[in-house]
Amino acid sequence: MSAKIIDGKSVSAAVKAKVASEASQIKEKLGIDIGLAVVIVGNDPASRIYVNNKKKACELCGFKSFEFAMPEETTQDQLLELIDKLNGDKNVNGILVQLPLPKHLDEKSVINRIRPEKDVDAFHPVNVGKIMIGDYSFLPCTPAGVMELIASTGTDISGKECVVVGRSNIVGKPMAMLLLHKHGTVSICHSRTKDLAEVCRRADILVAAVGKARLITEDMVKDGAVVIDVGMNRMENGKLCGDVDFDGVSEKASFITPVPGGVGPMTIAMLMKNTLTAAKLQNSID
Ligand code: NDP
Repeated sequence: MSAKIIDGKSVSAAVKAKVASEASQIKEKLGIDIGLAVVIVGNDPASRIYVNNKKKACELCGFKSFEFAMPEETTQDQLLELIDKLNGDKNVNGILVQLPLPKHLDEKSVINRIRPEKDVDAFHPVNVGKIMIGDYSFLPCTPAGVMELIASTGTDISGKECVVVGRSNIVGKPMAMLLLHKHGTVSICHSRTKDLAEVCRRADILVAAVGKARLITEDMVKDGAVVIDVGMNRMENGKLCGDVDFDGVSEKASFITPVPGGVGPMTIAMLMKNTLTAAKLQNSID
């Protein structure tokens, strides 16, 4: 079998176009500008690229973006003071703090300080808890993007064997929960899993979110599986590579995401969707 490639660029463009159209209707009918505040601390080059991409996506969706670039030596108190200010600012519907923060800052208390209604990354414990009970306004962007990609293949998740490799708070765990909400039979693998290949081979839907280049090889994949590669590994030649051995696995899978051009573009598209949702909730728009 030769897998169909799931085109994350086109699925994400469709999500952003829908968000842009709703945002322009809100502006036209109610005169409301939707605003996203992006906070970046320090000079990490990768973070800079992500922040620039988020600003571009805001422009595309007709949102206002407010960037707060703070120096590396910013103190915890200064950062919390900014969060408090943004929490109270009516022009700011969503607040995003670009992670990782410099080591001297405590990420957890910064995330906990963001008002849950403005937490468009869905990292605040209140939003994490809501995901657990299936009563959510925001979904964490990467797992939500994966769900859109799976939906784009026409695959019905109900009753399917789903295997998620990776159990981080931002990808693996919420990913497993979203698949469970759609009635998948979900297994979560991690570094202590005894026979990773054996568990992966059960999967009708396999999501790899590990951060190890080409960990998932052809022999670990069932014929006809839908394979989603969240991994982004920077190789020595500067190129990006996923957690899945694309060439081998695409011989067996029915659908597969490429890296780059698969999950990556979806993450930002879902951030835009969450910002729109935040603005609608804050303005009581259905
Ligand atoms: P983490 O490092 O937080 O988590 C990695 C997970 O992989 C851990 O649960 C770890 O297990 C597990 N793991 C490590 N080695 C193995 C192994 N040999 N076998 C099975 N499981 C293993 O990473 P993230 O979840 O933050 O990110 C995962 C990948 O996704 C990264 O490449 C990251 O760059 C990418 N990513 C991509 C995004 C996108 O937009 N496309 C967004 C976010 C992340 P244990 O818990 O036991 O340590």
